[in-house]
Amino acid sequence: MNAAAVGETLYLQRLARVRAQMHSQGIDALVVSVGFDLPFLIGYHAMPLERLTALVVTADRATLVVPRLEAPRVEHFASVFDLVPWNETDDPVAITAGLIGTAQCVAIGDQMWARFLVELLKHLAGRHFVRSVDVVGPLRIQKDAAEIAALVAAGAAADRVAAQLQSGAIALVGQTEARVSADISARLLAEGHDVVNFAIVAAGENASSPHHHAGARVIRHGDIVLCDFGGTMNGYCSDITRCVHIGEPTADIARAWSDLRRAQEAGVMAGRVGATCESVDTASRQVLTEAGWGEYFIHRTGHGIGMEAHEEPYMVSGNRLPIVHGHAFSVEPGIYLAGKWGMRLEDIVVATDDGPLRMNATPRELVIL
Ligand code: ZN
Ligand code: ZN
Ligand code: ZN
Repeated sequence: MNAAAVGETLYLQRLARVRAQMHSQGIDALVVSVGFDLPFLIGYHAMPLERLTALVVTADRATLVVPRLEAPRVEHFASVFDLVPWNETDDPVAITAGLIGTAQCVAIGDQMWARFLVELLKHLAGRHFVRSVDVVGPLRIQKDAAEIAALVAAGAAADRVAAQLQSGAIALVGQTEARVSADISARLLAEGHDVVNFAIVAAGENASSPHHHAGARVIRHGDIVLCDFGGTMNGYCSDITRCVHIGEPTADIARAWSDLRRAQEAGVMAGRVGATCESVDTASRQVLTEAGWGEYFIHRTGHGIGMEAHEEPYMVSGNRLPIVHGHAFSVEPGIYLAGKWGMRLEDIVVATDDGPLRMNATPRELVIL
């Protein structure tokens, strides 16, 4: 089969599965706009514009309402969905409402702009609304073989950049965090990513802020340097964190890193089919708590990953969702001493029937440069 035929088969299968979800939940129509439910269902990623793009799925029809000037970007699988381009003088909200018709229970995508939803509601008085995550979420959370292959490829590309960081190929000492972040971003693209999603570079005391924005701080001898970066490659995301140390670390930092490595390993090993999502968090947190770092581990242990860098399932206390094969998620415990230093170690893991499978193979030592 050629690529178009593979796409057509894939999207027909996904729409059939989403319709089965809708049927079992009594949902008559599904409306998704910008965001990732749309490309998941039909392969088209709408730009987040002021013009409305909406896919309306009912039991017997799927229709993409799209601005006429965007229509040339749509790969149109006629057996999968109908295409309704609208002109600048048309009312796309009225067109969308017409396709929803008399559907009583309507699922709406999380990322549909409020302005369109507010206008749409005027056409749909008395209907019942739910979130599309209830119908598309259960499909997106469990990755199939092709999606796992895409995560493997993205992970390997991120690994190649992490290897460049650990080998000293990325200039650090005397550079600003922002300069290093730009360098890492360029390397993510050079290694095959289509888009860079983030490249956090945090030196010394800045590493104690988990989502530090790379800035003018110059990296110098004695710093720990935390690098957390990822991008999107063929529609699927990478996300990895490694730290390097400029010169010998203090005894405190060396001890903390060895505890962090054990915590991350425990979290990865807990990511088994049948365990709960929260047990991954518990496993990592327990190691750090017993080592005396509990109060310095200030965020959840991980997040799901796929078409989006952060998506379901979340590895957080209270999430009793059982892990199934095909769940993809990060395991990224950290230790943060406000104003002093911080560290995090992150790999992406896919749960398989043979146990947790890491998407990242870069060594997990605190490499000294
Ligand atoms: Zn993060
Ligand atoms: Zn990350
Ligand atoms: Zn992450």
